[in-house]
Amino acid sequence: TPGIRPLIAGNWKMHGLRAEGLALARAVAAGAGGVAAELLVCPPATLIAAVAEALAGTPVAVGGQDCHEREKGPHTGDVSAPMLADAGARYVILGHSERRAEHGETDAQVRAKAMAALAAGLTPIVCVGESEAQRLAGEAEPVVARQLAGSLPEDFAVQGGVVAYEPVWAIGTGRTPTETDIAAMHGAIRAQLTRGTGGPAGARVRILYGGSVKPGNAAAILSQPDVDGALVGGASLVAADFLAIAAAA
Ligand code: PEP
Repeated sequence: TPGIRPLIAGNWKMHGLRAEGLALARAVAAGAGGVAAELLVCPPATLIAAVAEALAGTPVAVGGQDCHEREKGPHTGDVSAPMLADAGARYVILGHSERRAEHGETDAQVRAKAMAALAAGLTPIVCVGESEAQRLAGEAEPVVARQLAGSLPEDFAVQGGVVAYEPVWAIGTGRTPTETDIAAMHGAIRAQLTRGTGGPAGARVRILYGGSVKPGNAAAILSQPDVDGALVGGASLVAADFLAIAAAA
């Protein structure tokens, strides 16, 4: 989208012990010079502080992969948004389909987490996307519209939140929607974001595409209208691939 700096975000998921995670982060930073897009890596929670320290002074930002909706309290095993910010994170991925599927996260919970992230000064990246059955049934756009309506806080656009469209059936499968389908969905998301009070702020929200983005398909996907970057899983674990995707933005 004209006037929007693309964001290329790497979701490392549950990958990375200390040595390999730091090596990956450093390799991304080493190749970041001259990349027009903003770069973000989202390591597992255990590595956020160390990666943030290693990337200090580089143009590569760090993010979390989830946060709790409360600031603190009796929630064993969880990590709060202020904790992520304190560790050096600036972004947090929320409502990823793996969290929705494996942890039963609902739109309402994702919305509460997004509010917590904003309150902590983090930029939430809220993930939405239809299943294969929903797409085959012709329901992809209404499903995503419903997820957006339920997952985004009122002031999401004004506060600079990011949306990631990730069709569930394209994640980790090597399959992607057609460029036409990606453009149609991103257009529908943009229309929803700019409707009503969202207006001008909604026009500036970055809408990322995620799902089997690779160096070979990045340019075609990233050149679609209203595709303002990518959320990259598997390919973000190889610095050269992640940087090649970023170079295509
Ligand atoms: C993701 O899980 O956010 C993702 C896009 O994964 P992949 O790139 O591996 O499909």
